[in-house]
Amino acid sequence: MGLFSGFVDKFRKGLEKTKQVFTAPLRKIFSFFRTLDEETRTRIEETLLGADFGVEATTQIMDSITAAWKKGEISSGDRLLEFLKADLKRRLTDKGNDVLWAPAGPTVILVCGVNGVGKTTSIAKLARHFVRDGKKVILCASDTFRAAAVEQLSIWAERLGVDIVKHKMGADPAAVVFDATDAAVARKADVLLIDTAGRLQTKENLMKELTKIRNVAAKKVPGAPHEVLLVLDATTGQNAISQAEHFKAATSVTGLFLAKLDGTAKGGIVVAIKNKLDIPVKFVGLGETPDDIARFNADEFVEALFTD
Ligand code: GDP
Ligand code: GDP
Ligand code: MG
Repeated sequence: MGLFSGFVDKFRKGLEKTKQVFTAPLRKIFSFFRTLDEETRTRIEETLLGADFGVEATTQIMDSITAAWKKGEISSGDRLLEFLKADLKRRLTDKGNDVLWAPAGPTVILVCGVNGVGKTTSIAKLARHFVRDGKKVILCASDTFRAAAVEQLSIWAERLGVDIVKHKMGADPAAVVFDATDAAVARKADVLLIDTAGRLQTKENLMKELTKIRNVAAKKVPGAPHEVLLVLDATTGQNAISQAEHFKAATSVTGLFLAKLDGTAKGGIVVAIKNKLDIPVKFVGLGETPDDIARFNADEFVEALFTD
């Protein structure tokens, strides 16, 4: 696969469930395709909705298929498949999904989200990914709320061979960031990854805590946090979208890390997210190990979805 960066294989494996309930039935519909009658339209629509594309994106996709059919651009099932792939690629293409690197000094990446979405695991993946790229990474254990949280991140740091800055459980999360940003500058780190406690987007005091963390980081490193990644759990479907809308309203979010894409048959959530939110999906999580991460790329994602 010379055309692609090598994530297609990862996507393919991670999208196994989605392919079973989405790609396979769709292929069947397309293989019997003769005319875009009401029944065929309904079956395509149901398949899209079933994979969590969401009502809005599904309606738009169906409209564009219908228009192309009327113009005579879709004469066979194969053509329909190619049309859909092109439509999805166009829909998902986002010029803004590169990491926002700091122009100088450490790039500070703040990772946030609700409880259990996969923040800490995603940080381990990001750390591995950046280390592979030859970058010096430091972790900051700012989830001081849960007893096991600091320990969980410490174990990852040891396994991945990266430094970690931590305080005791119950410490002020912003105080940990204070020390971690100092360490990142002093040790000339390329990337500082800040783990935070899970917080419900509706708890105002916890959102203020995020603001405090941001302010501390900004005082130490110009422009920090350069990247605020919101982790969403793909298995929670449309609920993930509502979480993102709330977080976005409370704090600026620069990108999404869509975790647990392997755990859902509803990979269409990627399209729903793109449609509903003005935040790029930058990374996806495709399993529980640190290697199960892919940079999001529209072409690779769509190819993987339709490759056996
Ligand atoms: P946090 O509370 O947001 O920090 O979530 P954790 O990182 O502790 O993860 C919660 C659970 O989700 C753990 O059991 C992880 O192994 C699991 N998890 C995280 N990311 C993924 C993923 O991409 N795929 C799968 N299958 N599981 C994941
Ligand atoms: P409540 O917020 O009034 O229900 O009080 P709690 O006893 O649940 O929480 C006490 C303190 O712990 C609060 O002031 C919060 O700052 C913090 N806290 C509660 N829940 C969470 C949580 O889910 N995440 C984090 N980071 N802090 C929490
Ligand atoms: Mg955690």
